[in-house]
Amino acid sequence: MLADLSLGDIVQLRKPHPCGSREWEVVRLGADIGIQCQGCGHRILLERRDLAKRIKTILHRGLNASHSDAPKT
Ligand SMILES: [Zn+2]
Repeated sequence: MLADLSLGDIVQLRKPHPCGSREWEVVRLGADIGIQCQGCGHRILLERRDLAKRIKTILHRGLNASHSDAPKT
């Protein structure tokens, strides 16, 4: 389900952060996924399957959404 998350994606979680924002940007990909709150800038690391349970929807695709390598310009 989240196999295609990319850096820069904006995701909406089911529960809002204490600051009031539900929107988080994907800032790190790996065994754990790092996301940054768009309301207060707080960063957290979540296991991929844990994040999958918390995400409600992907709001916005980041620049690296392409599955092919970025062209060198
Ligand atoms: Zn926040």
